[in-house]
Amino acid sequence: MTDWRTWGSEQLTTIAQEKQAAYDEYKSRKLKLDMSRGKPCPEQLDLSGGMLDVLKPGGRLTTEDGTDTRNYGGLDGIPEAKRLFADILEVKPEEVIIGGSSSLTMMHDTIARAMLHGVYGSPAPWAKLPKVKFLCPSPGYDRHFAICELFGIEMIIVDMLPDGPDMDQVEKLAAEDEAIKGIWCVPKYSNPDGITYSDEVVDRLAGMSAKAADFRIFWDNAYAVHHLTDTPDRLKPMLAACKAAGHPDRVFLFSSTSKISFSGAGVAAMAASAANISFIRRQLSVQTIGPDKLNQLRHVRFFGGMDGIRSHMAKHADILRPKFDAVLGLLASELGDTGIASWNEPNGGYFISLNTLDGCAKEVVAMAAEAGVTLTQAGATFPYGTDPRDRNIRIAPSYPSPEELQAAIRVLILCVQIVSARKLLS
Ligand code: PLP
Repeated sequence: MTDWRTWGSEQLTTIAQEKQAAYDEYKSRKLKLDMSRGKPCPEQLDLSGGMLDVLKPGGRLTTEDGTDTRNYGGLDGIPEAKRLFADILEVKPEEVIIGGSSSLTMMHDTIARAMLHGVYGSPAPWAKLPKVKFLCPSPGYDRHFAICELFGIEMIIVDMLPDGPDMDQVEKLAAEDEAIKGIWCVPKYSNPDGITYSDEVVDRLAGMSAKAADFRIFWDNAYAVHHLTDTPDRLKPMLAACKAAGHPDRVFLFSSTSKISFSGAGVAAMAASAANISFIRRQLSVQTIGPDKLNQLRHVRFFGGMDGIRSHMAKHADILRPKFDAVLGLLASELGDTGIASWNEPNGGYFISLNTLDGCAKEVVAMAAEAGVTLTQAGATFPYGTDPRDRNIRIAPSYPSPEELQAAIRVLILCVQIVSARKLLS
């Protein structure tokens, strides 16, 4: 296979026709495959089935400090759950607030409270300011961007580099503009690139000067323990880095067990400095008497501690790795030296991020949909749903069966080949 970009029109026309015939054959099969979201597959969910029986009527339903989990109380989580998330997020248990079942809800609510009341140390509620802006390393997580859009927060794209956001851009923007109040980060096995931030990026984020005194890093560590290999990426602990840099209040950390136990029925948590936590706790005490302690107890009884989480995640990896390998193998064999696409090979997380030639992604995704393969909308990985280069496609290999995945990726590859050939011919 050689670089298609060096081919003449005859060669490109021939390959386009050949690939179109293969695509038409797939289309006639009337496939119905959905790879639009990173959902665990049923076999992964079965791994946590035992959690449904760990609590029994008449059994011990109290926590280690004697709290009855069936009753009101415990605003910020049971001690055992705080300890578990302290280990996941590499903070102290007293720096953790346990929430409901969704970390995204905690992120949304954190922004909502900041807009209404400000964060700890804010001179004014953010909504009272003429303009609020967030830095959005992109491609990134579409739902972060949706939160900003909902609250009218202007999003500024920052490029993602192989070791995290382009820190030259981040430092310059944050230092110059007081309206920039925060940055979204998925620092480990990022959604969608699968990148883990380097120590240098962590230190620069922690240490940089920000014009807004109440600048916050939204550190969404959704994939903290979601390794695919035996040599996992290592992320430098962010709260410790912020403390060391003299900005202890700069970061809000988030995570959940959505892709450890059950998506939508797991446990979510956030963490931050003592000052941030006590500020937030006061506000939460008005909103709720406390989250679902039975679910927290179920989780800590089932997993035990970090060792239990690690061995459980190794079972997830055994299911996911062959799927990732299948996708990567097909991409390499069909697109390897063509110069029409590039992609990452992540060590963890839920996604493979595919870049086409500029100006092709939308057409590829539309063409795949016509053949019954639903992908995440092109552009979704960028603020306002617009990829300036129209090239990024997020592949979510976890949910389909291996056979479905093979078919879906073959269709996707054919679409990339056909659209690219047409582009190069034009
Ligand atoms: N953060 C990231 C980066 C995600 O990819 C996802 C789900 O795909 C979430 C958060 C959602 O987490 P939760 O289920 O805890 O709301």
